[in-house]
Amino acid sequence: MVRVVVVGGGAAGFFAAITFKENYPDSEVVILEKTRQPLAKVRISGGGRCNVTHSCFDPKTLVKNYPRGFLELLGPFHKFQPQDTIRWFETRGVKLKVETDGRMFPITDSSETIIQCFMKEVKRHNIDLRLETSVEKIEKGFLVHLKDGSVLEADKIILATGSNPLGHELAKSLGHTIVKPVPSLFSFNCPSSPLLDISGISLPKVKAKLENTTLETEGPIILTHWGFSGPAILRLSAFAARYLHENNYQANVIIDWQPDEEIPIPKNLLKKLLPDEIHRSRYKIEGKTTYKMEFVTAGGVELKEIHFKNMESKLVPNLHFTGEVLNIDGVTGGFNFQNAWTTAFLAAS
Ligand SMILES: Cc1cc2nc3c(=O)[nH]c(=O)nc-3n(C[C@H](O)[C@H](O)[C@H](O)COP(=O)(O)OP(=O)(O)OC[C@H]3O[C@@H](n4cnc5c(N)ncnc54)[C@H](O)[C@@H]3O)c2cc1C
Repeated sequence: MVRVVVVGGGAAGFFAAITFKENYPDSEVVILEKTRQPLAKVRISGGGRCNVTHSCFDPKTLVKNYPRGFLELLGPFHKFQPQDTIRWFETRGVKLKVETDGRMFPITDSSETIIQCFMKEVKRHNIDLRLETSVEKIEKGFLVHLKDGSVLEADKIILATGSNPLGHELAKSLGHTIVKPVPSLFSFNCPSSPLLDISGISLPKVKAKLENTTLETEGPIILTHWGFSGPAILRLSAFAARYLHENNYQANVIIDWQPDEEIPIPKNLLKKLLPDEIHRSRYKIEGKTTYKMEFVTAGGVELKEIHFKNMESKLVPNLHFTGEVLNIDGVTGGFNFQNAWTTAFLAAS
């Protein structure tokens, strides 16, 4: 009997464990989760509603939402993409709905629905879920050393530890390279912006560009009391994650408030802009904020060291990776979970 140890009880770990057990019903599957609460990020995701995926069904368009991983995910998305995610959940009694911006949520608007679905599947398939069980070391072969001193044997390992540094250490000890983790998906602090006192205003479409770079995005923006947020800014932060980290989150953002002439600019914003600033306003970024938002880590296991047909390590046979532990991250909108589902599906194949 094949024994699979899944390290990490998050979105990717659960999806991989359930799919593996479905593919190989005679196997023994164990999930080891270091905390008392599995699926903790699923619970808080999407403001408690869990933005499960995005209604983008063309793999070539889909990969454009991944600042890191866009080349590597193209093949995987031909095997498991948002359409498959919708079907996977629907087959298990969870219906998803789409919002006008393409984000998809359970029709209950509650992440609890996703958690209950996973917990039910784990029980139905007799998967051994062990909580408060931290993996401290993995020896090739495999011997999995737990914090309490006990050791488990495994034929296959699926490493699904998310952005946890401990997971990166495990991968490193097995010979893998870790691309330095830096935060992604944050809003910009612009304390000297003259627009702070009109916070709350949002526009459906602006162009936002980082000065002296080619990094530019388009989309909705929200004026906050600390600077700028909203999809255009979060997307820019993701594509500029490394650049901004290297520059200590100090840069200038150039905003075109009216990229399309038919978009009206709110009156209180217009009052603050000189005529020549409508298409080019410049604001100084002095830091970032991730408060209450979806945030992810750019960085993780080097993608060149992975076979993307089954997420197996090129260095250690039978070691597989899935989810955020990899140097893959998406913009906000359900793309990060889609990465977890797709890579877990492949790891379990
Ligand atoms: C506030 C917030 C909201 C978000 N909302 C969304 C959203 O709506 N849509 C979306 O697509 N993405 C969202 N994301 C991103 C998404 O949650 C992550 O990309 C996703 O959870 C990654 O899944 P994962 O299984 O790879 O990692 P995780 O969910 O981080 O799971 C890893 C698990 O491994 C465990 N672990 C780590 N090391 C060990 C060890 N040594 N031994 C045992 N266990 C270990 C951890 O405790 C954890 O439970 C959000 C993120 C945040 C922070």
